[in-house]
Amino acid sequence: MKNPYGINNPRGIAFIDDVERGLACECVCPLCHKPFRACQGEKNEHYFAHQDASECEFSYRASLLRMVVDYLRSGELEIPAVIARYMNEEEIIQSGEKIRFDRVEQIGDIKTPELHCHLGERSWVLKPVFDKKDRQNGGAGCLTLDLTRFSNPYASRPHQTLAPALRQENLLQWKNHPKRAEAELALRKKHEEKQVDFFRSRNVPPFHNRPRPTVAPAPRPSFIALEEPLPCKFFNKVIEPRDIFMTKKSEGYCVCRACNKERGGAIHT
Ligand SMILES: [Zn+2]
Ligand SMILES: [Zn+2]
Repeated sequence: MKNPYGINNPRGIAFIDDVERGLACECVCPLCHKPFRACQGEKNEHYFAHQDASECEFSYRASLLRMVVDYLRSGELEIPAVIARYMNEEEIIQSGEKIRFDRVEQIGDIKTPELHCHLGERSWVLKPVFDKKDRQNGGAGCLTLDLTRFSNPYASRPHQTLAPALRQENLLQWKNHPKRAEAELALRKKHEEKQVDFFRSRNVPPFHNRPRPTVAPAPRPSFIALEEPLPCKFFNKVIEPRDIFMTKKSEGYCVCRACNKERGGAIHT
């Protein structure tokens, strides 16, 4: 991966087209800190090369990370809300908020870096994701920072586009939030209890709790689903088409999956 970004002291991150050609660029590699040479040929895309011809595979990644850290040390970042979801139920555990950190540290090597961001006593762990392939297994309670759109520096031009994206777009996602997992389990239990109550109130055990017949069941006829939902009088609710089946052989012969009643003609009439 060619890298069009170097570090110039004291300016910081420098784009290849904003520096002098060759060794006069006065830039170093953001990863190994060896001197850079600015290659600004006519044919190829401009890039920085190490003066001693060594190669740093993750030199561009280090530049991108440096730009992220530079932004986080001064700009605002929206920490997304933590929301638990199960079926149609939703519970906001923690609302989103805009944070301006007072301390940001880069931890770990360039392959699996973490950004530890602090504000007073509070702290957040950000896991940058550079590549769709290298989705990292984040630990509990960390946030992933989606940087995949910046994988090509020439197409994405992060020195211009990264800060606005961090400011305005939601690149952060809660990866594993322990409180969310807990709340989702609680929602699930609540949902299941409601279902059990539904059957209990009608004195019918739920389908999966009904005793199995001791005699072998009759061979299943070939079924077709009805087109329209129909009301079940016994359960006083509308039965979805997938819950009602009609045999192909005899028209008008129905089995209602809610009350298990077999009827001739239109259901329950
Ligand atoms: Zn290097
Ligand atoms: Zn019915």
